[in-house]
Amino acid sequence: MKALEARFLSIHSQIAAAATAAGRSPDAVTLVAVSKFHPASCIAALAAIGQRDFAENYVQEALSKQELLASHPVFEQLIWHFTGPIQSNKTRAIATHFSWVHSVDRPKIAERLSAQRPDTLPPLKVFVEVNLDGESTKAGVSLAQLPAMVALCARLPRIELVGLMVIPARASTDAFVRLAKINANLPTPLPMLSMGMSADFPAAIAAGSTHVRIGTALFGAR
Ligand SMILES: *Cc1c(COP(=O)(O)O)cnc(C)c1O
Repeated sequence: MKALEARFLSIHSQIAAAATAAGRSPDAVTLVAVSKFHPASCIAALAAIGQRDFAENYVQEALSKQELLASHPVFEQLIWHFTGPIQSNKTRAIATHFSWVHSVDRPKIAERLSAQRPDTLPPLKVFVEVNLDGESTKAGVSLAQLPAMVALCARLPRIELVGLMVIPARASTDAFVRLAKINANLPTPLPMLSMGMSADFPAAIAAGSTHVRIGTALFGAR
């Protein structure tokens, strides 16, 4: 697990360097460790050296890891993010077992997550995923649909809309700057932006990312 610790420290220093270069505080950027396809033991190892935010893409995989980790001394402090594609028959499990969802991509999903969020938990924090380049193969709301989606999420009582999320098209070099601009132009700009993965997180931080979602650079290849 020495290699994992080295990668963790390296990513933290790269995050801090990118934030400082952009005139931002390193504390303004949260590292979300994307642990999909990596075993619960890797999550435990990272939790032991201070990581708290973990993201999963598949509900069953996430629930089995949460169960394995339930007796870990810091389990209660772990913060679970969902970053995968959302089928509507999975919304209840997501609303129950996660605190954040980055991949809310259509009105029906927002409505179901709000309706199914247990009353005993605080509102579910959500990002709306934006399909910036109108790619037919990609999830996310179009720019045309975004204002209505943001208005809907603001009305739903059991979700808290915190920001926008993007997975850029391969050829897109300015996606992060564009998403930040789109957010700034909303009637009420949202406080957070979920953007940046292993290959491009420094550029995302330069453009204002508050949540970088990093898998490979932290855990190694999947
Ligand atoms: C897998 C995944 C990541 C992490 O990607 P890496 O390139 O491995 O860092 C980030 N965001 C989403 C939505 C993902 O599915």
